[in-house]
Amino acid sequence: MIAEHVTCQMLVELVTEWMDGALAPETRVELELHMVTCAACTTYVDQLRKTRAALGQLHDEAPPEPAVRQNLLSLFRQKTAGAPGEGPGDDAPGDAGAAADDGGSGATDGDGA
Ligand SMILES: [Zn+2]
Repeated sequence: MIAEHVTCQMLVELVTEWMDGALAPETRVELELHMVTCAACTTYVDQLRKTRAALGQLHDEAPPEPAVRQNLLSLFRQKTAGAPGEGPGDDAPGDAGAAADDGGSGATDGDGA
């Protein structure tokens, strides 16, 4: 039985321990209850989690959330897909060079052996 409600300030103070799994089960449940009912804390926890993951400070065995990975992947794809489209003037000579390179490297590979 829990008498006190978790406040946003309590969540901020306890969230690190929560992430490390260091909280008592009752406290953890209270925090998680607050998270699902408080948009601000949901955002805060989400950002904190991403920051920690980016810093590589997560000691948990748990891999990054699939949603986060998908976000990164789609961002990466957007970047790689958009790159060739930019600067059409630069692209023309670059394309020719790349084509020649491809043939050259293939021949070199065969010769080198
Ligand atoms: Zn809150």
